[in-house]
Amino acid sequence: MSGTATKRSQKIILVGPPGAGKGTVAKSLVDRYGLCHLSTGDMLRAAAAAGTEVGLLAKSFMDKGALVPDSVMVSLIEERVQQPDCRTADGSPAFMLDGFPRTLPQADALQARGLAPDLVVFIDVPGDAIVRRLSGRRTCPACGNVHHVEFAPPKADGICDRCGGALVHRSDDHEATIRKRLDAFELQTSPLVQRYGAMIERVDGTQRPDEVMRAVVAVMQRHGYAG
Ligand code: ADP
Ligand code: ADP
Ligand code: ZN
Repeated sequence: MSGTATKRSQKIILVGPPGAGKGTVAKSLVDRYGLCHLSTGDMLRAAAAAGTEVGLLAKSFMDKGALVPDSVMVSLIEERVQQPDCRTADGSPAFMLDGFPRTLPQADALQARGLAPDLVVFIDVPGDAIVRRLSGRRTCPACGNVHHVEFAPPKADGICDRCGGALVHRSDDHEATIRKRLDAFELQTSPLVQRYGAMIERVDGTQRPDEVMRAVVAVMQRHGYAG
């Protein structure tokens, strides 16, 4: 061993099928390491709720279980990663993308802008478990927290543990739409596994949330994160 400290991976990507637990892991990682966490799903839902042109366009695709066009997504992320909270003190990019890229052209767009990841965490969960995860998911629109009726129930029915907001069952978390999102994942997103190849750190997402987190923390430690 050389004894030199591992250089921290600064540009992190979370990949996995819908419902794999990306958002759950991302929130714990933010609490632990204070990363700049960008969830494209949360950004699109906020834009839709605000009634912006981009938000309403995005909603028409999201409601069908289809991906939002690459051009829309790339400009959204491109603009957001410029913000100071996604830069280190010396100005280099530092972020954790949750839900982007989801297609090969989105991965190409990152690469072309010098934003290719230095760590890709793939949270692996088979399709049959996904339907159960997503149909039981309850989301807090106020703070972005997620619960599950069976696997992560709130203390009080329908109320977010974190902020006391009213939980909702997302309109795309119903079985017919879930199936379409799984198809979109297989067709459009899974080719990223080939693209990122040896850079991928695969984590078994079927474990309990605390076990998944422990496995991800071990990965982070190998990539230069202390604690
Ligand atoms: P994603 O961001 O990948 O779509 P979420 O983090 O929103 O996934 O998780 C999907 C649902 O599954 C949520 O209801 C969440 O509470 C639940 N969940 C997350 N991780 C696990 C896990 N390891 N075991 C069981 N349920 C989980
Ligand atoms: P989940 O992880 O549960 O699939 P997200 O909240 O990440 O859901 O995304 C919800 C929806 O937002 C997706 O089904 C898709 O329509 C849209 N979306 C989010 N990120 C992207 C992206 N990078 N490219 C295209 N569409 C996206
Ligand atoms: Zn909340």
